Amino acid sequence: MKWNQAHIFTLREAPADAELESHKLLVRGGYIRKLGPGVFTYQNLALRVLRKIERILREEFDRRGCTEVLMPMVQPKELWDESGRWQEYGDLLLKMENRNKQWFCLGPTHEEVVTDLIRKDIKSYRDLPKNIYQIQTKYRDEIRPRYGLMRGREFIMKDAYSFDVDRESALKSYWLMYEAYKVVFKRTGLDFRIVEADAGNIGGSLTHEFQVLAAAGEDKLLVCDNCEFAANIEVAPSVFEDRPTGEPLEKIEEFATPDLKTIADLAKSLKIKERDLVKTLFVKGVDGKPVAVLLRGSDELNLVKLKNTIGSVNPPEFLTDEEVKKLTSAYPGSCGPVGLKVPIYVDQYLKNKVNWIVGANRDGFHLKNVNQDRDFKVTLYADLRMTTKGETCPKCKKGKLKEFRGIEVGHVFYLGTKYSKALNATYLDHGGKSQLIEMGCYGIGVSRTMQAAIEQNHDENGIVWPVEIAPYHIHICLLDPKDKTLSDKTDEYYMELQSLGLEVLVDDREERPGIKFKDADLIGIPLRIVMGAKGFAAGEVEIAIRKTGEKIKVKPDQTVSYIAEWFKTVGVKF
Ligand code: ATP
Ligand code: MG
Repeated sequence: MKWNQAHIFTLREAPADAELESHKLLVRGGYIRKLGPGVFTYQNLALRVLRKIERILREEFDRRGCTEVLMPMVQPKELWDESGRWQEYGDLLLKMENRNKQWFCLGPTHEEVVTDLIRKDIKSYRDLPKNIYQIQTKYRDEIRPRYGLMRGREFIMKDAYSFDVDRESALKSYWLMYEAYKVVFKRTGLDFRIVEADAGNIGGSLTHEFQVLAAAGEDKLLVCDNCEFAANIEVAPSVFEDRPTGEPLEKIEEFATPDLKTIADLAKSLKIKERDLVKTLFVKGVDGKPVAVLLRGSDELNLVKLKNTIGSVNPPEFLTDEEVKKLTSAYPGSCGPVGLKVPIYVDQYLKNKVNWIVGANRDGFHLKNVNQDRDFKVTLYADLRMTTKGETCPKCKKGKLKEFRGIEVGHVFYLGTKYSKALNATYLDHGGKSQLIEMGCYGIGVSRTMQAAIEQNHDENGIVWPVEIAPYHIHICLLDPKDKTLSDKTDEYYMELQSLGLEVLVDDREERPGIKFKDADLIGIPLRIVMGAKGFAAGEVEIAIRKTGEKIKVKPDQTVSYIAEWFKTVGVKF
């Protein structure tokens, strides 16, 4: 492609709303343009990268026996009512009514549609297993779209779904996809970790996330420095040893704590550690009914663990201060478990603690020597706190946990029969008996992966594309486009390299060399050929490697063979 014919417009300045370097570079490099919050046009350069990621996906999935389809984006409410997710999915689901007063949503994911497809087609065990996938635009009405393509409202996803006769076979499908994902992300040139994760509102029991490591990632990951344990902090268990202390229970006493509103204030005033205090929090549980949660003063509540403990669909919301006052007669800061008439969930770390200090449910007062069972009833002890870095690994119990930040680019779930049961997707077994189909689902954020690749591969001058997904292989800077010999030679390279199957962008603009070099660095194509009249007259052509900054001078008749060899060496098939 010649720049003058292409639609490439680079910018000097990044938009004010771009926080991440990758977002800035996508906009400055002319890869994407914003239409509205979380909604972007993929310009040609971006589309070329997306197509390359998609090609890797298709190759790896097709070779593993998956079948590509394309399902509708507009989906009828009735189907989502069958799974219960019309309500459950909440405001992420963009809903609309048509002229016939029928309700639809834009697909944020396709479990419902694909299960409907399968229940209509699959008759017997002979039709199974199947794995169906698509690469398609999804819409989620994200509350706060941000970071460019990282959290868009409209984004491209590869979603695959497996269908099997039983659990054993479904788990085989799961691990096959898990391996496929490993290969895919390796091929895209990304540094990633596979972590244990929460199933979110997709449902299911076995699930892993594929996280690209990046300081700017939204997810926190805990990784053991001794064994293979790695988990999203949302689900990382805390190590707990159930060892009663045998200390005697003291008599309960109320004491005044005016103006002491926070755990920090209270700890300071009482001259004890925050971890020796007990804090009481209130959330809206299943059906919005209030639930009390007790933790050590120094611990942070993990809402995902709480969600899974109380069995709500989404992470619970906190009660407002006024709602707390109505429930307990005191504002947060003076609340405690004694006298409460709501379920009380207690973090396991408090199980063996005696003589707690808690709020008195009377503003400006606390109680000391409060004890579970004697003074209030615990509904359930559970692991509810956020595990933190430096703690002991819950798996090997030897190593220490290290914290990383990650960008979730892929997610695999074993679903069991959640959707087949809800939508009655069955097959006839060997004995002619009707059985529920076992399912798994597997997603990759294609547009997010593109940006994650930039987040991991850039320098102060611009993008440094991994070769497998670069929009072009070679960027020719034609410095003197008016020089006939030089532009003829450039055309010759252009044709020859393309005939080898390499992709070439020629910057043939009437611009200063400095501008061309800056843009070349910004766009980030792996190899650059510098075609300057002076060098050419002296019998040399400069080839620059974007990643290392290395510059190699070759004779004009060796340019093509040098480049072909270079790409072979780095393992690019063309
Ligand atoms: P997140 O936790 O980031 O909101 P999710 O867990 O809800 O994502 P999944 O339902 O697992 O997302 O979707 C599969 C993949 O789609 C994710 O791993 C991610 O790469 C991508 N994805 C999800 N939401 C977005 C979004 N708003 N913008 C871009 N990509 C997304
Ligand atoms: Mg996910």
